Amino acid sequence: MDERVNAASIDDKAGVMTQHELAIMGSSSAIGILGGTFDPIHIAHLRLAIEAREALSLAQVLFVPAGQPPLRKPPQASAAQRLAMVTKALSAMPEFTDIFLVDEAEVVTHMASYTVKTLERLRAQYGVRRPLVLLMGADAFAKLPLWHRWQDLFGLAHIGVAARPAADTNVLSDNNLYTQVAAWQTNQTNVGAGETATQWSMDSIIQRIGLPADISHAPAGRIVPFSITPLAVSSTLIRQRLAAKHNVRHLVSDHVLDYIATHSIY
Ligand code: ATP
Repeated sequence: MDERVNAASIDDKAGVMTQHELAIMGSSSAIGILGGTFDPIHIAHLRLAIEAREALSLAQVLFVPAGQPPLRKPPQASAAQRLAMVTKALSAMPEFTDIFLVDEAEVVTHMASYTVKTLERLRAQYGVRRPLVLLMGADAFAKLPLWHRWQDLFGLAHIGVAARPAADTNVLSDNNLYTQVAAWQTNQTNVGAGETATQWSMDSIIQRIGLPADISHAPAGRIVPFSITPLAVSSTLIRQRLAAKHNVRHLVSDHVLDYIATHSIY
C-alpha cells in the first residue's frame, strides 16, 4: 500500500475501515488531537475540530477529555460525565463518524492528565512517521510554558493554534504568536520551575511557525496558526449561565443539554 495515502482517500474508506486499521496504515495523513476539560463540551470545541480538519487537512480528530487537569481547579462534572458529554456531542454529528473519535485513556487512568504522556502514547500507536497535530486555542498556547515537559511536545506533534476571540481574531496580527512567545520570555513568574521559556531562544520557537502545508512534510515540530469562525463561547460561560438558570440551547448540542438536565450537573 502507498505509504502516502491522502486525507481524501482515507475519508472515502473511513466507513469500511476500523480505527485500528487506520492507525497501522503508516499513512502520512495527519491526525488532530483536541484535548480539553470539556466541562461541558460546547459548540466552539466542535467548530474548532471541524475547521481544523479542513484548514490542516486532518484525516481524523481525537477528542481527549482530561481526567484530572493539573493546571486548573477540579471540573464541576466528573470525568465520566465529561466523557459522556463528548460522546453525546459527537453522536449528533453522523457525518463525522470514524473521523471524530473519543480517546478515553486519560479519563480511565484516574491520573493527572499530562499532554506529553498522551502524545507519547499516541506516537507509539500511530508510528514515528504519522503527522500528529495537537490542536488548541490561542489562549491555551499562551500558557504552554506552564505545561509539564512542554518542550518535549514539539518532538511528538505539531501544534495547531486556532485564533480565539475576542483578543486574537487573527493570531498572526497584533496579539500574535510572536508576542506570546516574547511574553513567555519576559513573564517568568508565569513559568514553572525548571521549564523556563528562556531555555529556548525566541528564534528557536519562531522558526517553528509554519503553514498548514508543512504538516504533511514532517511528523512533528511545527507551530501552525489557523483561523476559525470566532465564537465567544467557553465552558465557563455555559456553567455561569446554567448556574443563573439561563438558557444554553444552541451553545451546546441538544444531546448534551439533555444529559446536563437529566444529571443536574451544573
Ligand atoms: P473553561 O471556560 O472551563 O476554561 P474552555 O471553554 O476553554 O473551558 P476547554 O475544554 O478548556 O474549554 O478547552 C479545550 C480547548 O478548546 C482549548 O485548547 C481551548 O483553547 C479551545 N477552545 C475552547 N473554547 C474555544 C473557542 N471559543 N474558540 C477557540 N478555541 C476554543
